[in-house]
Amino acid sequence: MQLECKTVYLLLGSNLGDRRTIINAAVELIARQIGPIILRSSWYETAAWGNEDQPSFLNIAIAISTNKAPAELLTETLAIEETLGRIRKDRWGARLIDIDIILYGDEIIDLAGRLQVPHPRMQDRRFVLEPLAEIAGTVVHPILQRNILTLLSSLNDNLAVTKLI
Ligand code: ADP
Ligand code: MG
Repeated sequence: MQLECKTVYLLLGSNLGDRRTIINAAVELIARQIGPIILRSSWYETAAWGNEDQPSFLNIAIAISTNKAPAELLTETLAIEETLGRIRKDRWGARLIDIDIILYGDEIIDLAGRLQVPHPRMQDRRFVLEPLAEIAGTVVHPILQRNILTLLSSLNDNLAVTKLI
């Protein structure tokens, strides 16, 4: 059965190596393997979250159109992380590339802890909401029932997130 196309928002981050080149390579693989890129945010420089004693991150948010089901989408994004040589050590440690699934249409998904969408911590993270607001400001969070700009304006996270020009 052919699934209908969904608009999916992804957040990409890197804090090791040639960060822009790695993120650009990830975007290319996503376009080739998952679906076309519809929108892409600016670059954002973000102080590391969780473990603040590590290099800062470069982040972008993208919107893609895909007919892949959620589990298959996760398999693909994890495979792209592996392809680009993600080093999996401690949970919030330095990484070449991290791809998070932030929103999958307006669906609420919980695959036994393996995949939760909307991403359960998106509303607490400035490094997610700032780039996302640029491309999805009026998109409504399907659980919180508030749009991204509203979530951003009520955020308490004071981590420095700087839009690069
Ligand atoms: P984080 O992205 O929170 O820093 P990790 O990238 O190390 O943490 O976590 C990866 C794991 O999180 C994946 O193996 C995946 O099974 C799980 N996961 C749960 N929900 C999501 C989501 N919305 N997007 C990406 N990974 C998710
Ligand atoms: Mg992740």
